[in-house]
Amino acid sequence: MAYQKLAFWQNWARNVQCSPSKIEHPETEQALVDIIKDAGASNKRVRVAGNGHSFTELDSTKDTMILLDQLQGLISLDAHKSQATAWAGTSINNLNRLLFEKGCNIVNLGDIDVQSIAGATATGTHGTGLRFGNVSSQMSSFTLATASGELIDCSKDKNPELFNAGRVSLGSLGIVTKMTLDVVPAYKLEYVAKKAKLSETLDRLDEYIANNRNFEFYWFPYTNIVQNKFSNETDAPVKDNQMMRYINQHIMENGFFGLLCNIGSNINNSYLPLAKIIGFGATSERKINHSHLVFATPRNVRFKEMEYNIPIENFKEAMQRIVSKIHKEHYRVYFPVECRFVKGDDIWMSPSYGRDSAYLAFHVDSRTPHNPYFKDIENILMEYGGRPHWGKMHSRKADTLATAYPMWEQFHEIRKKLDPNGMFMNDYVKEIFGA
Ligand SMILES: Cc1cc2nc3c(=O)[nH]c(=O)nc-3n(C[C@H](O)[C@H](O)[C@H](O)COP(=O)(O)OP(=O)(O)OC[C@H]3O[C@@H](n4cnc5c(N)ncnc54)[C@H](O)[C@@H]3O)c2cc1C
Repeated sequence: MAYQKLAFWQNWARNVQCSPSKIEHPETEQALVDIIKDAGASNKRVRVAGNGHSFTELDSTKDTMILLDQLQGLISLDAHKSQATAWAGTSINNLNRLLFEKGCNIVNLGDIDVQSIAGATATGTHGTGLRFGNVSSQMSSFTLATASGELIDCSKDKNPELFNAGRVSLGSLGIVTKMTLDVVPAYKLEYVAKKAKLSETLDRLDEYIANNRNFEFYWFPYTNIVQNKFSNETDAPVKDNQMMRYINQHIMENGFFGLLCNIGSNINNSYLPLAKIIGFGATSERKINHSHLVFATPRNVRFKEMEYNIPIENFKEAMQRIVSKIHKEHYRVYFPVECRFVKGDDIWMSPSYGRDSAYLAFHVDSRTPHNPYFKDIENILMEYGGRPHWGKMHSRKADTLATAYPMWEQFHEIRKKLDPNGMFMNDYVKEIFGA
């Protein structure tokens, strides 16, 4: 009996697996358009995936999966206009390297660099620093391959509605083939990590956010300990001790931490001493390096994550309620809560749409149940107008998401017009979009 061997795909966190009927790796824009046209002609669905660093079923498909790993690289750099155009499949670390070789850097980034640039922007991936929007807000134009096989250029001036809809679109409007990003001359950052008290950090939060280029903090549950992280631009020479970096990033944050997670995932009641050991062991650090080398950190311990965006003015109150809730309910958690601050934007489906925002991120080891922890915290954050990070876990569906996004209807009108047969949808996206 003839059978078709199915491909296997899984995400970084290994909580999502799927068997696409086929995985395509187009090497040119035209080859990608041909795949889309073929799918359209036979009424089939396709799903584009990035580098699988989302924690939800966003990439999951039984149909054709398209990977743009062969569509990588810098197409052009206009240093005068501070704009770089890259193929959509370019991984952020590749893009960082190519830009840096030409004396430029991306304006602001999150804490890993292994995503594809289109995967990162499609979910509104962000770093921290209230002067900066998420990475999608750094896009000044992009080209979209649509269900009809057209290539549409979008920017503030060309197809402006599609530009507002398409910078964060979860792969549902079509496939971004290339994009132009705002870049800046290469810069160095002085990074300082310091242990402090949560109460003091909350008291001084406005000052920390205002006086630093990038400020974020990690709070360690069941303690009053935080690790504050400040980064500021500097012209001082690089000072980044390789040995210390290895000890901090590989031994403390991954090796030793991974060992503790093995205990935590096997022994139910170990979370309390573990949380305290991890908080107590938070390191202080000071280094100076090129920005892309400061932003990116290795993440070898696999976890599940939920991250929520709320209006920045609600942050302190929400944070205090969350601290009390965790201490009252005694969830099985020993990963720190990460708090970041991001400028508002005008991208219709961006969690930061129309508001300066605080992001709060919650993690559990990938082997540990995440509920009721995630669900209870989500309920609190929804009271503050919370919007989930699209690439991270949440339990929201169209009924409550629609009211959280003022431009929800306009986005879906465009989506239905561009892709009337739902070629780019998968079951998960259908569910959260109520399509
Ligand atoms: C360890 C870890 C650390 C992280 N740190 C951060 C962080 O600091 N800040 C933050 O905000 N997020 C962070 N994330 C989340 C991550 O940035 C997002 O989930 C991001 O979307 C992953 O990019 P990816 O390339 O892996 O895309 P995938 O997860 O594979 O795909 C994400 C979405 O992009 C769509 N997509 C991919 N390519 C295209 C294309 N060419 N055209 C249209 N749509 C496309 C897919 O269809 C899918 O809907 C982290 C995740 C992990 C696992």
